[in-house]
Amino acid sequence: MFFINRNNNNAAGMSVGLMGGTFDPIHMGHLVTAEEARQQFDLNYVVFVPTGMPPHKDGEQVTLPEHRYLMTTLAVMSNPSFYVSSVEMDSEGPAYTIDTVRHFSFGEKEIPELFFITGADAILDIFTWKDYEELLRLCTFIAVSRPGYSLEKFRETLDKHCPGMKHKVHLLEIPALAVSSTFIRERVALGKTIKYLTPEPVEQYIKKHGLYVPTG
Ligand code: ATP
Ligand code: MG
Repeated sequence: MFFINRNNNNAAGMSVGLMGGTFDPIHMGHLVTAEEARQQFDLNYVVFVPTGMPPHKDGEQVTLPEHRYLMTTLAVMSNPSFYVSSVEMDSEGPAYTIDTVRHFSFGEKEIPELFFITGADAILDIFTWKDYEELLRLCTFIAVSRPGYSLEKFRETLDKHCPGMKHKVHLLEIPALAVSSTFIRERVALGKTIKYLTPEPVEQYIKKHGLYVPTG
């Protein structure tokens, strides 16, 4: 569980990247993205925050949060700068990004500078997010290019909705990785290999628990 010591003055000047997602399952696209953001923005930590019951995915079948949390933990184990937080899973009812960001924005002197790392597909929806204006005040967004999504027009739209907030969204180009969790779930369901699309311990976890294999 990621923890920031409220009484530790050393925390001042710290910058933390938050990466929210369903992580059903986590894959190399998420990890490459987080690592690139960590390096480019000189982040001290990246905290992966798996959703509980995702508000935007109502009605869709989502794997139990416990499985998604454990797979995420296995995936980040080898990176000393990566952590996982269960804050969204622990909340009752759907957790919104604003609640998560508020959770990490506590303290006075010790507030870390917060960055929210998100894929291009997700940032395009930001104006539908709860309290998005406050969200843009509390953290800086790192929007990562993702195959199939264009961010060219995004900044213009951002300026219309939230004038003066352009500087709160940075666009980050990363090597294109067309992998998605949907793609992995589909491959497992078809009995196809997912080797190298996700870290090996995650691949083994999926096998051991029979995840994504159609039942009945
Ligand atoms: P699904 O196919 O189930 O929607 P996903 O692969 O999109 O899964 P999510 O858990 O929905 O994964 O994504 C979490 C965050 O990671 C989102 O901000 C998403 O845009 C980003 N992301 C996912 N895959 C990639 C990728 N290949 N490259 C860059 N960003 C990605
Ligand atoms: Mg997605």
